[in-house]
Amino acid sequence: MQTRIYKVDPEKPSDDVIEECIEILKRGGLVVFPTETVYGLGAYTFNPKAVLKIFEVKRRPPTNPLIVHISELEQLNEIVAEIPDVVFELAEKFWPGPLTLVLKKNPKVPDVVTAKLDTVAVRMPAHPVALKLARIPIVAPSANIAGKPSPTTAEHVIKDLYGKVDAIIDAGETPYGVESTIIDLTKKPPVLIRPGALPVEKIGEILGSIKIQTKTPFYQHYTPNTSLLVIETEDYSNFEEYARKFESVVRDLAKDKNVAIIVSKELAEKISVNAKVILLGSRKDMYELCRNLFKSLRRLDELNVDLGVIEGFEEKGLGLTLMDRIRNASNFKILKV
Ligand code: AMP
Ligand code: MG
Repeated sequence: MQTRIYKVDPEKPSDDVIEECIEILKRGGLVVFPTETVYGLGAYTFNPKAVLKIFEVKRRPPTNPLIVHISELEQLNEIVAEIPDVVFELAEKFWPGPLTLVLKKNPKVPDVVTAKLDTVAVRMPAHPVALKLARIPIVAPSANIAGKPSPTTAEHVIKDLYGKVDAIIDAGETPYGVESTIIDLTKKPPVLIRPGALPVEKIGEILGSIKIQTKTPFYQHYTPNTSLLVIETEDYSNFEEYARKFESVVRDLAKDKNVAIIVSKELAEKISVNAKVILLGSRKDMYELCRNLFKSLRRLDELNVDLGVIEGFEEKGLGLTLMDRIRNASNFKILKV
């Protein structure tokens, strides 16, 4: 298949490109587009054949339901069966933005979208490209082969999906670099299904109590090909001590293995090890750490080392999201020091 690539300004995408891509979607094609979280692989929600193609192209199990993207609250009426009042409160505060809500499904939504569940996940994305395209409701999982780290640049997408989709809209690097936060509002209390780019504490300010579910039935694994170890500790406030322990573990491993470390600049400055270094950013900027994670996991595979070792972070605010992705990437190979 011929894949068209459109380069656009992330702030002011060309209307012609948007219109052309909406036409492709309406005809049942697949369009990859940037969102403020990661790149999405989009199909028109009400075209089950097109939606099915997403599962084929991504090699995603059909049991893993998709998120519907909308651009206006009115569109909720054709997606969900009923709209609890709290949705308007949440939307007022967080939409457009990286918050996905699970609600009772409108029977009109094809079963292939929701993996036959009677609920549906929906969000209003903030990225100007995504928001303009979502004038028609679009389902879009991350635009990667299932099991790979989510794509945060068009280059990542091209590596995974070139020749398999109709169009790719390239608007540079995605701002958050991690997926949306997902809350299931059909449960009482609401359940956090996946921590994401919106810190759960902020949603708690509106919802009150939220149950944190660590293992969901559709849990996704982002694993690099290179084996990855996370070094965690109970208390990161004594960072000197953590750095010393991290260094000693890596020195030991590097005796008979080629090692790469994925670390903050603060940790990199404190240790001296025989390993390649991939910098995640500063511990003082959780957004930066999240934004660089998936890119760093892809970089790890390019380095051709035997083993990656990655730093751990406190599970507070975006730290919860970061550690969720890191532990998944490591396949839960965790060393507590
Ligand atoms: P993504 O892979 O980023 O497209 O996110 C899709 C994820 O949203 C799934 O893996 C589920 O965790 C969640 N999800 C989507 N629809 C539902 C639903 N109806 N009920 C519960 N979780 C859902
Ligand atoms: Mg995904």
